[in-house]
Parts: sequence; C-alpha cells; structure tokens
Amino acid sequence: MRNKSEPIRLTMAEFSTATLNGIHCAADIIRGSKRGAVLTGAGISTPSGIPDFRSTNSGLWEKYDPFEVASLTSFRYRPEKFFEWIRPLALEMVAAQPNEAHIGIAKLQEAGYIQTVITQNIDGLHQRAGSTNVLEVHGSMQTLTCISCFQQVNGQGIVEAYLDAGEIPHCPNCGDILKPDVVLFGEQLPARTWLKAQEAARQCDLIMVAGSSLEVLPVAGLPMRALEGGAHLILINKSQTYIDVRADVVFAEDVIDIVPRIVEEVLSG
Ligand SMILES: [Zn+2]
Repeated sequence: MRNKSEPIRLTMAEFSTATLNGIHCAADIIRGSKRGAVLTGAGISTPSGIPDFRSTNSGLWEKYDPFEVASLTSFRYRPEKFFEWIRPLALEMVAAQPNEAHIGIAKLQEAGYIQTVITQNIDGLHQRAGSTNVLEVHGSMQTLTCISCFQQVNGQGIVEAYLDAGEIPHCPNCGDILKPDVVLFGEQLPARTWLKAQEAARQCDLIMVAGSSLEVLPVAGLPMRALEGGAHLILINKSQTYIDVRADVVFAEDVIDIVPRIVEEVLSG
C-alpha cells in the first residue's frame, strides 16, 4: 500500500504525449553531450522535505524579516537572531535524504554525460546522492568562517553542538563568532566556486536547469552564458523562467516527476 505521506507520482502512461516527447528529446540531447552541466535550485530539494528558503509559503519568514536576519550587516550586528532563525531549517537539512532526482543526476555524472553540478542549495544533498564536482554557489553549512580573524573551520562537531543545544559557535583561534559559509543577502558569492561555475557554463555543451526559477542573480545568468557558447538547454521548473523561450525542451513540472524518467531513458538507450 502506498504510504499516506508520499505524494502521488505520475507513471509513464499518465504523462501527456507532449511530456513523453519532451523526455525523449531531453534524453537524446543528454546522450549526445560530453560536457554537460546541471544547475539546481530549491525545487530539487523540496521533495526531500526542505522548504524553499525564499518562498513566502515556507513558514520560514512568518516571524522574521529575511533582510533583518539573513543579511551580512545584521549578522554582524545581531548574530544570535540569525542562528535562531536558521536552526529549524538546518535541522531539516540534516534530517533530509537525497531524492530520486538527486540520485538520477549522480547517475548521469557517473555515466559521463554530466561533468559539473552547480547548485544554489546549501543542503549537501547532491554530494550525499553521490555527485562529485558540486559547485555550491550559495555556500554550505559544512564550514564556518570567523568574522574577525577569517579562520575557516570545519563544521563537524560545531554544527551539531549548535543544532542540539542552540550553542552559538565561536572561533577556536580568537573567540569571536563563526559565521556559517552560506551566502547571506548583501554578500558576495564564494569567489573560487563562482569562477568555476562561470567556466563550466561557458564550456558546457548542455545545461540542464532543475528546480530553479532563475530569479536570483548572478546565478540566474549562467544558462544564458551556456547558450552563448552554443550549449543545449533543458529546463525543468514548475514556474516559468526568463529563458524558457530559448530552451530546447521545457518541462513546467515537478523535478521529481521528470528527472528520474529522463535518466531512465538515457541509461536504457
Ligand atoms: Zn577568529
């Protein structure tokens, strides 16, 4: 019997002809690519139970103004507010498991079709699904950096203590506060990672966008850069994006309904 909490998933027979054609077309493009890149956003992790960080429906903003808690200025001024706000989200990320879409992308990578995974997510689920060469352009919770002496510290142990007891992490070197290496509002992207992401977009022959509405700059510009270099574009996102008109295939569907089907088709062909 189907688990009650599990959402209903479409089977092949239930897909429209247009969607089935789209899946064939996407699979053909992927099979023909040698330097593929994937760009993922919140939509790939919502089926794993992680709320969309920026969605007003997520409940994350009910008690807080994002610009007040999650900006660099306010972090420096009142770090305890930030740590209080992000704790439920961090707890959900730790408890979450990679889903079939994360796993499917890792399989495409293993088969050699995809070289780089660029993600706007900070949850580490791509790595846990087996992906390598993951560029976390909005940072991650795995490391923290001191706001005074800039020493970078591995989050292991420190993050657990904070999640268990709400303890605010302090620098082992100077004692000041450690900031998780996630990109806050008003903060630059991690420079080296961002350079690599731009290079991947320039050099790829395919970019597959999965679960991103492409609304957050500068990451939203990467598919355009890929197109300029002659790459194919596959788009899977429930809502429209600015670049839909330029794509080879667009799926206005849930990532979890589409990516595993495409992967199945690619690997069986
Ligand atoms: Zn320090």
